[in-house]
Amino acid sequence: MHRSRFQAVLLLVVLLTGCDNTVTVYQDRFFALGTLVEISIYGVSPAEAARASDQIEQEFLTMHGDWHAWQPGALSSTNEQLAILKPFRPDPAVLPLLQEATRLSQLSNGLFNPAIGKLIALWGFHDNALPVGTLPDAAAVTALVKQAPGADDVTFTGTQLVSHNPAVSFDLGAFAKGYAIDRAIEQLRELGIRNAIINAGGDLRAIGEHGDRPWRIGIRHPRQNGILASIEISGNASVFTSGDYERFFEVDGKRYHHIIDPRSGYPAEKTVSVTVIHDNAATADAAATALFVAGPDEWVEIARNMNIELVMLIDTDGVFHMSPAMQSRIHLEPGKTAEIRVSEPLS
Ligand code: AMP
Ligand code: MG
Repeated sequence: MHRSRFQAVLLLVVLLTGCDNTVTVYQDRFFALGTLVEISIYGVSPAEAARASDQIEQEFLTMHGDWHAWQPGALSSTNEQLAILKPFRPDPAVLPLLQEATRLSQLSNGLFNPAIGKLIALWGFHDNALPVGTLPDAAAVTALVKQAPGADDVTFTGTQLVSHNPAVSFDLGAFAKGYAIDRAIEQLRELGIRNAIINAGGDLRAIGEHGDRPWRIGIRHPRQNGILASIEISGNASVFTSGDYERFFEVDGKRYHHIIDPRSGYPAEKTVSVTVIHDNAATADAAATALFVAGPDEWVEIARNMNIELVMLIDTDGVFHMSPAMQSRIHLEPGKTAEIRVSEPLS
């Protein structure tokens, strides 16, 4: 996504969280993991907040180096070793991340599939720059789909890892941001901070409250400027959205975006955006991607598998699908919705 667009998303959240003049929120921002990260801290002195924020920034920059799929680092060397198909010990900086990604992939029936790094690279969506804008070689896509790399192709034994499929290559683009936010929130808590939001390019986790009222979060409209809905959260909640507008190119008027259906090797067809709310940011991140791929026909089944209760999915016909729990929480902006379909309860 373009830097300017990140800033638009960010400003949106600032607007909603920072509009009460009676409370002071400390805010800081920096670039990491290919996105603009903004930290908002409430309820401690500015000096304490600044110290905490500096630590979080350092942590993010370290994670950025370790988890990069295509720049040399712990993840890229793990991918090189995986390709040899012999057991090895990956860098401890990536092992827990890979284990958790693999677990969530299995729960998603492989729709969130962090092992399709080669496919993502073929599409050119593995880079921070805007996508190349040309379609990949169809035969190469088909060949990779046939090799079907997935979580089940990797075995973890203690701290050892082995792949049984030469096509496996990890890309954690759909999950690392969530995992990083969880780590940062843990660190904030250890520093005694009880009220905060960490927002990475519009995806965020909040803890505590904003003064004596909840945090108010805006969900951006997938096709227009401004917000589509807002939601109030307090306590601990992560709000993650996967959308076809984040990274895409067009060929002959057709949009090719960055969320790939591992079953076809092509961008998932029926979804425009999915918003998931869940305690844990890593789970919310993986689930938003999985439910995007699942689309209007399969999202309920996959959400149940992944223990997700709060979901809103907008399909390519403009229909809003949501769980009853989401319907009772979300404030939709007037005039922005067409048909709303509420599912059976997810649990
Ligand atoms: P997100 O915005 O969280 O949905 O993540 C999208 C990013 O995850 C893409 O840019 C790819 O790097 C990667 N990705 C795309 N499709 C999938 C998928 N089906 N499973 C896992 N990762 C994916
Ligand atoms: Mg995701």
